Amino acid sequence: MQEQSTAVVERMKAAIRNIPDFPKPGIQFKDITPIFLDPQLCTDIIESLNEEFHLQDFDAIVGIESRGFLFGLAMATRMRKPFVLIRKAGKLPAATVSYKYQLEYGEATIEVHEDAIQPGWKVLVHDDLLATGGTAQAAGKLVEKLGAEVAAYSFLVDLSFLNGKAVLQQEFPKALIHGLSSY
Ligand code: AMP
Repeated sequence: MQEQSTAVVERMKAAIRNIPDFPKPGIQFKDITPIFLDPQLCTDIIESLNEEFHLQDFDAIVGIESRGFLFGLAMATRMRKPFVLIRKAGKLPAATVSYKYQLEYGEATIEVHEDAIQPGWKVLVHDDLLATGGTAQAAGKLVEKLGAEVAAYSFLVDLSFLNGKAVLQQEFPKALIHGLSSY
């Protein structure tokens, strides 16, 4: 990584706030909202993400609800790519394709507009944070349901001790998996 990008990552890590026991005991929540109070930091993060991915071959960026929308759209705009929203079930107004997956307790369903991703596209999937990889894996499966493939995964934060990267590598061996910062 370039020296400048390393400094950006350090500034980003300094801005991210650790909230203990949220949303439940034992979880240390990484609150990224202070990043948005610093427009120069936001600009520099978008440039770092652009540097990381601009040579990658992909047709669109897919953001995962809801924090994946924040830098997802910014990256897509910077890289002149279409931006696609993956949302929780029942939120998207037009015809959708859905994917159901298991959570620690129970299950969840995510959706995408069926005309938002074209068959044969390569997409970059972006979310704020990679933990166990379950959410990102489900997003990738939904992309595949529309006949597209995951070319890359992008996260601001990789909680590497939870091994989400290994889960994604196993499921999507051709995808580049990149966390701007890791813990
Ligand atoms: P996972 O499916 O376990 O990889 O969890 C990733 C999703 O849950 C992302 O959309 C994150 O925004 C959210 N998430 C999981 N763990 C945390 C955490 N410690 N801090 C902030 N967000 C988290």
